[in-house]
Amino acid sequence: MTSLIYCQQAKQLLEAFGETIRELTRLHEEQFQALVGGDLDSTRFDDLIHMVNERKHQAKYAYLNHLETHGCSRYDEPDKK
Ligand SMILES: [Zn+2]
Repeated sequence: MTSLIYCQQAKQLLEAFGETIRELTRLHEEQFQALVGGDLDSTRFDDLIHMVNERKHQAKYAYLNHLETHGCSRYDEPDKK
């Protein structure tokens, strides 16, 4: 029964989701450094951040969708939309 808490696929989806969050964090940090360094062209990060954000949403959806359809874990955060 305990082996059902996280199946391998759910784990991979969660890792992929986490990876996009790390990437976003890195991009925001780089954008901040560019801004502090006086790089007025730092808006180029906006497109990148937007793209990674899209991937983050997709990864999150894939993960939650897996949990729901596979029933291998519970997801009952009160603020889910
Ligand atoms: Zn599963």
